[in-house]
Amino acid sequence: MPAEFGATPWGKAWLRTIEPTAVSRPNPLLPKARSLARNAAVTLRTAEAGRLDAEVSARGVVHRVAIEFPCWSGELSTEVAGLVADAAPVPGDLPDGLEATLTRRGADIAAPAGERAADCGCGAGDGPCAHVLAVLYAVVQRIDETPALAVELRCRAPLQAAADPDWIPLSDVPVEGFYGT
Ligand SMILES: [Zn+2]
Repeated sequence: MPAEFGATPWGKAWLRTIEPTAVSRPNPLLPKARSLARNAAVTLRTAEAGRLDAEVSARGVVHRVAIEFPCWSGELSTEVAGLVADAAPVPGDLPDGLEATLTRRGADIAAPAGERAADCGCGAGDGPCAHVLAVLYAVVQRIDETPALAVELRCRAPLQAAADPDWIPLSDVPVEGFYGT
């Protein structure tokens, strides 16, 4: 059975920013965040380059979450878009091996936690609250389902598979219907 979160190298790259292996004590909010994501409490409204918007319902209250993070440089984005066009035969999917290739070229698949700015309507203080973490877990799951999303979140250049006339950029697909929510 594949891992519930991070079943692909693409999802795993984002998972590592939520669950860093180097910390001695796990974040006590993580079990709650996982449970929210697992129980479909997260609705992703926007998932685009540099930005995520979502709603998280917890105990009957809906919290709006916005997460911003840097994209790759324009030059790196163009290079990545070329590699993706060469490598991706199926819209939305990406070969697992491409993740290592992109990382080697300096394209970190996930924005490091320290470079993310997150805002949640719950008004919790410092550090990401369980709702922000739940959105990130939900993104890991979406990326596992549709690895191209990992690149779309970080890439400034439009993604196209030159050889594939049926390629549809994910940004043209309504998030809600597409993810079956
Ligand atoms: Zn919150």
